[in-house]
Amino acid sequence: MSIDEGAEGALQLTWELVGRGWARCRLADGSQTASVIASYCTDALADLVAGTSELYGQKRSARFFFDAEPQELRWALRSADGAINVTIYKFPDIAVSPDLPDSDGTVMWQSTHPRPTFAHTVLVAAHTVLKEHGETGYLTKWAMHPYPVALVQDLRRLHMRDDVCTLPHDLSWP
Ligand SMILES: [Zn+2]
Repeated sequence: MSIDEGAEGALQLTWELVGRGWARCRLADGSQTASVIASYCTDALADLVAGTSELYGQKRSARFFFDAEPQELRWALRSADGAINVTIYKFPDIAVSPDLPDSDGTVMWQSTHPRPTFAHTVLVAAHTVLKEHGETGYLTKWAMHPYPVALVQDLRRLHMRDDVCTLPHDLSWP
């Protein structure tokens, strides 16, 4: 697979630690933007990285959620023909929503990108947050979970092995 953007514009994804135990993931693709909040009730960055890695095996989809207290922000990554469709559903109350089907949520983001693009973008976001905070600073801010070094290394290994990616790769990545 090679980098080849479809009708949707270039994917942008950033990860910010915005306060003790809170993170914000911003997404943009040229036509739509989303700001997705996560609390440390789940290990949100680790789940995003691990979910992306899952799409390198036989699995066609990966699912996880962010706890935005009280909203549930449910991510569904679906893989088809080398592309990943990302849909984020919002549910008003996480106390009840884990039992609800996706169709009961509100779609707050939906976009499809080639797997190399999506994985590369997730890796850059994960690496950027590490460069900014370091492992110690990350744990201080995110509090409940250490920086997911091993999961980021796994995704990087899969990306370098299975994707044809022409974007630059910083060899100082973890
Ligand atoms: Zn790459």
